[in-house]
Amino acid sequence: MDHFLYKDGVLHAEDVPVSEIAASVGSPFYVYSTATLERHFRLFDEALDGIDHLVCYAMKAASNQAILKTLANAGAGMDVVSKGEYLRAKAAGVPGDKIVFSGVGKTADEIRVALQGGIRQFNVESEPEMLVLNAQAVMLGMTVPITIRVNPDVDAKTHAKIATGKSENKFGIPIARARDVYAMAAALPGLEVIGIDVHIGSQLTDLAPFELAYQKVAELTETLRADGHDIRRLDLGGGLGIPYAYSNVAPPLPSDYGDLIKRTVGHLGCEIEIEPGRLIAGNAGIMVSGVIYVKSGEGRDFLIVDGAMNDLIRPAMYEAHHDIIPVIEPAVGVDQQPYDIVGPICESGDTFAKQRMMPPLESGDLIAFRSAGAYGAVMASEYNSRLLIPEVLVNGDQFAVIRPRPTFEDMINRDTIPAWL
Ligand SMILES: *Cc1c(COP(=O)(O)O)cnc(C)c1O
Repeated sequence: MDHFLYKDGVLHAEDVPVSEIAASVGSPFYVYSTATLERHFRLFDEALDGIDHLVCYAMKAASNQAILKTLANAGAGMDVVSKGEYLRAKAAGVPGDKIVFSGVGKTADEIRVALQGGIRQFNVESEPEMLVLNAQAVMLGMTVPITIRVNPDVDAKTHAKIATGKSENKFGIPIARARDVYAMAAALPGLEVIGIDVHIGSQLTDLAPFELAYQKVAELTETLRADGHDIRRLDLGGGLGIPYAYSNVAPPLPSDYGDLIKRTVGHLGCEIEIEPGRLIAGNAGIMVSGVIYVKSGEGRDFLIVDGAMNDLIRPAMYEAHHDIIPVIEPAVGVDQQPYDIVGPICESGDTFAKQRMMPPLESGDLIAFRSAGAYGAVMASEYNSRLLIPEVLVNGDQFAVIRPRPTFEDMINRDTIPAWL
């Protein structure tokens, strides 16, 4: 469920006509709904009612300051994977004790910044990282709470590029080696072992892989406790999928996921953390784009739009599907026709959809890519020297530009010319 619906024949973001935003900022742009962000956060928070928990939004999904602040105000912690994300979370007013640091390649510099700024815990992913973290903590005279990310060797049954819980993936330590690695961590003076972390992938549309992974985490908790470790926090990662095609069977609900967590690890008395990203932000955002040309090709019509793969890379990168709808509601019973919907970039990969049924469209019409709130704006680039597109946040009948479109001078002046030229 989201808050992008037709009202009076025009697609609205909450109570604001999308056409009004387009008239103000120009296309293409992203627009996010405050109500949807808050609703999705609450669904997770309520799913864990009855157990001590913190929902840490995986901010790599969408990390605009206004989005972070909206979620932080609702009570979210943050899961960060880089110094930049850590600094963004702090800048949005998130206290250090609600920030979890994940990621497979944290550098000494990143670790130091988070230690000095305050951190809830580090999710450690390897022995070498553990040694660097220990050395930094000792240098600062600190003891830092850690979990160790284990790789449970579970098939998340999702796209290969976003599966992270199989033994061939780079993430975590093999669960079979966990006892040794925990023993090593416990012997290091700068670390305080408090829990276990697991994250098996993204866009999971079935609960079974979560169940397998969490059962393994529950067993490991008992084993590690028997070894003398005070395991009291379980970080169960993110990954719950969203319905990208509204016509398809819906993925499991956060409440089902919460029940699964209670069933698999609830008896252990641990504090629970989860790190959802996509489900919070995905359907809270759309990308709006204008039709530049309608071009008739050999046996097919192309809709050439002003958004491109540099603005929304998911179709090119993950063969992802986005529902695409016209901003002006088509008349009832209007004949649809197939279009290949493409951007202007000089790559055939710059194709959003092939033979997609749409009502007839013309140059100047606006279309919206649904479910573009997560892994959309954050993955954008300036390829083809296209400016990063603006982001807009709607709240009821208000909207605000939360990242303006830069100017071409901004873009060009970031380059510097060496003295010899
Ligand atoms: C990407 C990621 C998440 C969020 O995954 P979603 O599918 O967006 O919910 C959570 N935790 C870690 C460690 C991640 O890398």
